[in-house]
Amino acid sequence: MREPSELTTSDRASATLRGVDEVVDICRDLLRIDTTNTGDNDTSAGERVAAEYVARQLAEVGIASEIYESAPGRASLVARIEGTDPGRDALLVHGHLDVVPAQPDEWTAHPFGGEIRDGFLWGRGAIDMKDFDAMVLAVVREWRRTGVRPPRDIVLAFTADEEAGGTYGAHFLVEKHRELLDGCTEAIGEVGGFSYTVSKDLRLYLVETAEKGINWLRLHARGRPGHGSMVHDDNAVTALAEAVARVGRHRFPVVVTPTVRAFLEELSDALGIELDPDDPETAIAKLGPIASLIGATVRNTANPTRLDAGYKDNVIPSRASATIDCRTLPGQADLFLEQLREVIGPDLTIEHVQRQPAVETTFDGALVDAMSAALRAEDPGARPVPYMLSGGTDAKAFQRLGIRCFGFAPLRLPPDLNFSALFHGIDERVPVEGLQFGVRVLDRFLRNS
Ligand SMILES: [Zn+2]
Repeated sequence: MREPSELTTSDRASATLRGVDEVVDICRDLLRIDTTNTGDNDTSAGERVAAEYVARQLAEVGIASEIYESAPGRASLVARIEGTDPGRDALLVHGHLDVVPAQPDEWTAHPFGGEIRDGFLWGRGAIDMKDFDAMVLAVVREWRRTGVRPPRDIVLAFTADEEAGGTYGAHFLVEKHRELLDGCTEAIGEVGGFSYTVSKDLRLYLVETAEKGINWLRLHARGRPGHGSMVHDDNAVTALAEAVARVGRHRFPVVVTPTVRAFLEELSDALGIELDPDDPETAIAKLGPIASLIGATVRNTANPTRLDAGYKDNVIPSRASATIDCRTLPGQADLFLEQLREVIGPDLTIEHVQRQPAVETTFDGALVDAMSAALRAEDPGARPVPYMLSGGTDAKAFQRLGIRCFGFAPLRLPPDLNFSALFHGIDERVPVEGLQFGVRVLDRFLRNS
């Protein structure tokens, strides 16, 4: 095997080119494997098939990997690619293999058909996130064929179950196979590195440096059971409904965290608009489609999602419960609970169903420099900016090990594509050119990280 320094420039160019060709086929293959995560182990089977596919892609070029099952069929795959400098910390590159369900009759193309049409590759998972899985495979396969080695160890993790919280995927790896991630201090995964076009010569690339925390709560109201025909002033359903309505209508105060402040400053500069720090939502609203992706990052949120009470039309039940999906900003989890308690009132009890802390890191250092350089090399109009994701990813699991997590799955998007609507949406698709762009950026980035 040749060392990277022995490669000529034309070797490098052709190496990247072949990876660029291959990524479309690999992504297409992955899209054709139905890895629907129903949230139920009995009906989520495709992850094993996908993990075996990934293993074959790696084995074909001599990269050893191991598949770990948390439950039958719930398979994640891990491989380690040795870097040239064993003294350096490792970089984790992670992508999930599962997808959310898709109804074929709602789609223009079959969600598991992997069809290429109008310059796009269509299918459930095309941007979330088999595109990135395919890019990673294309890059490391090409490296192995041409003798390229990265500067430091790269741990590849292809995970199960991200779409249902990662219990059977990333969290399982962190809890049961921590040794696989030994030495990893930084990580890249979804949702970041995609472009937002400001003008012909300027594209913002949103790199995820923060994620809101998840706090799913169940509210329980209790009252006096009784007959539905009587006068009754201690009704659990009434008490619950009042609290749920208050929570649902409540707007928690705007809090501009360091990541969102940095994002808004970059945004106002790029768009040439004035930024009112007390009213960031006006600036965000100017972003058009991606406003929905980041609009929820300036405040804590609490949305009622489920109600459960009663068993007969004429019986007043003694208890009623509701689920509230709360998302908290970094450093706000405890304060948020105090504020929520005030809204709910003293009479209801709060049960914690799921709590995962927010993620936040700074947008600086050598890794960020490498991201920026790789983006600018492939798109001279690129301007990388940090942002916070209002949802959650596998980064929540990996940060438990102290790993500094970024969302960086580079993708150049056409200006008119409503990218955020494609996440879990109908007609999910990825631009073929964007996918190929991603391979080139990822290749440059990983060689210099
Ligand atoms: Zn995802």
